[in-house]
Amino acid sequence: MTFCPGCGTQTEPNWQVCPKCGYKLNDGSQPTTSPPPIIYNTSQQSESNTYGIEALVFAILGFIIFPIIGSILGIVFGIKGKDKDDNPSYAQFGLVLGIIGLACWLIFGFAIISFFVTLLTLMGPTY
Ligand SMILES: [Zn+2]
Repeated sequence: MTFCPGCGTQTEPNWQVCPKCGYKLNDGSQPTTSPPPIIYNTSQQSESNTYGIEALVFAILGFIIFPIIGSILGIVFGIKGKDKDDNPSYAQFGLVLGIIGLACWLIFGFAIISFFVTLLTLMGPTY
């Protein structure tokens, strides 16, 4: 008792072709297993932009979650990535974002400090 390797239908050993799916059953060769798998050679051609991507992620996080620290990490990874990454544009973007983020937080912090200093100076005489 044999079975069609194409669709699994029960076949007779003397059948040449599967009546259901047309699979060639006896062409003299071994009962067909699966055809040899095509191995796609993913030779290490993919670009590695690890530093640049990390720089971008940290720089973006620097805006939202990790003020200043994220921005500084973005700058650090951006500088590293500019030398080591295959495509330095990620790193450059992360670096710029990190600098902008750091500048924003510094300006923001300075604005808050100067606001309170001004406030205290204005309120000073009332004490
Ligand atoms: Zn079949």
